Amino acid sequence: TVEVRDLTRRFGTRTVLSGLDLDIGTGEFVALLGRSGSGKSTLLRILANLDPETTGSAEVRGTVSVAFQQPRLLPWRSVWRNVVLGLRRDGRNHSRDRALAERALDEVRLADHADAWPRTLSGGEAQRLSLARALVREPDLLLLDEPFGALDALTRLAMHRLVEDLWQRHRPSVLLVTHDVDEALLLADRVLVLDGGRITAEHVLDTPRPRRLADHIDLRAHVLA
Ligand code: ATP
Ligand code: MG
Repeated sequence: TVEVRDLTRRFGTRTVLSGLDLDIGTGEFVALLGRSGSGKSTLLRILANLDPETTGSAEVRGTVSVAFQQPRLLPWRSVWRNVVLGLRRDGRNHSRDRALAERALDEVRLADHADAWPRTLSGGEAQRLSLARALVREPDLLLLDEPFGALDALTRLAMHRLVEDLWQRHRPSVLLVTHDVDEALLLADRVLVLDGGRITAEHVLDTPRPRRLADHIDLRAHVLA
């Protein structure tokens, strides 16, 4: 689904991505780790076709959805209408759009909030709404930029189950950016580390899903080595 070759992105004199190569196969779940400022969000923006200022090639096949680091919700549209934005077309068919939005909201367990305003949602609910908006087009590639960053441990656990479950049912290719090594080991088939503008480490998980954290405690050192 994704084929990136020799990708370079500079901001002024600062080179953020430097000759980066990356492949993601169909239905593969890849996690991307890396220090703050290493260029993870920059890479996601490029894959989502939101940043033309690059050299090298970044080929993406199929439809792409992004859930950004900060959920960008439109405050003057209700929850379900925010989901419809993910369809990226004008609201021509009200009842069909509503049905699609409701199904996506149901998947992230937000069906009860369809007619609420975004500002009435908790942080975790807003992130789930962002996920529903990304899922509504049934993308071939799902780009998730620290989607569970600001959540408490229990909500995060619920979100891990939710994402695992969604992936099992729809099998999109996923690129998940996270700071949480345990989360990466739990959810991904392959864990990558971005450093100095390219992928510097790779760890392939071959244990079956769904996984338990206890299976992977000793792998943390390996990934971070
Ligand atoms: P974090 O984990 O904190 O989210 P990140 O790995 O996602 O970090 P990016 O947001 O990709 O990092 O940013 C990488 C570097 O590129 C940073 O130093 C940032 O300042 C710089 N950068 C990103 N976007 C721009 C921009 N539009 N103009 C100038 N510099 C930018
Ligand atoms: Mg970022």
